[in-house]
Amino acid sequence: MRKKIIAGNWKMYCGDPAKAAALAKGVIESCACQNRVEVAVCPPATALAAVVETCRGSSVRVGAQNLYPKDEGAFTGEISAAFIKALGGSLAILGHSERRTYFKEADDFINLKVKAALAHGLTPILCVGETEKEREDGVTEKVVETQLRGGLAGLSADEIGQIVIAYEPVWAIGTGKNATPADAQAVHAFIRMLLGSLASADVAEQIRIQYGGSMKPENAAELLAQQDIDGGLIGGASLKAESFAAIIQAAL
Ligand code: PEP
Repeated sequence: MRKKIIAGNWKMYCGDPAKAAALAKGVIESCACQNRVEVAVCPPATALAAVVETCRGSSVRVGAQNLYPKDEGAFTGEISAAFIKALGGSLAILGHSERRTYFKEADDFINLKVKAALAHGLTPILCVGETEKEREDGVTEKVVETQLRGGLAGLSADEIGQIVIAYEPVWAIGTGKNATPADAQAVHAFIRMLLGSLASADVAEQIRIQYGGSMKPENAAELLAQQDIDGGLIGGASLKAESFAAIIQAAL
């Protein structure tokens, strides 16, 4: 039985440590009484320390939204998996479509990040998903397969088993337009099947595949009820403790 994982991607919001700590406190208060759903929040790097401190002793995990795949060096402006780990972070969102689009991140670079995260004991949340045009062109599976094969290249079945996959159709992110539960389920089932051949049947069965893209309290229950949807990566609706909590509730 896969434990659902609901993660908040705060994007470039709530970077003020005091505000971020207050939001994290709200999340803890609204989901502290359960351990049936795994909960994580991913604030901007500037608020990571404050949110780690706030979440200490709670079951809420804290992650970063990105990392650079070297431990240290002359890479101005970047932060490494080692730094995130040292701060107390335990996961990292990698390959988010905003990074693929605005920062031209390609699968081979994302693959290095996944490896760096694993090397430092961080759980990578590897994001994949097609654009609107790609969906219209009927190449959703091809796109997702290329991103998965690229992002997971060179990893053992064991390593793949430590990753969380987030299926995020790009056209649904921040648009208010979510995939229908049936459409999302179809892609999730495809991803799980592919993981069976990239890793093993056992890994495919236990790995968690989140849905992301305008998940909110009103549509979460139906999406999360699908057989292969094991949680959500939540952007906009994670910026208010009440709406994030309602999504966690829907996952219970
Ligand atoms: C995201 O940023 O990963 C995301 C899914 O955003 P939103 O929930 O706002 O669509």
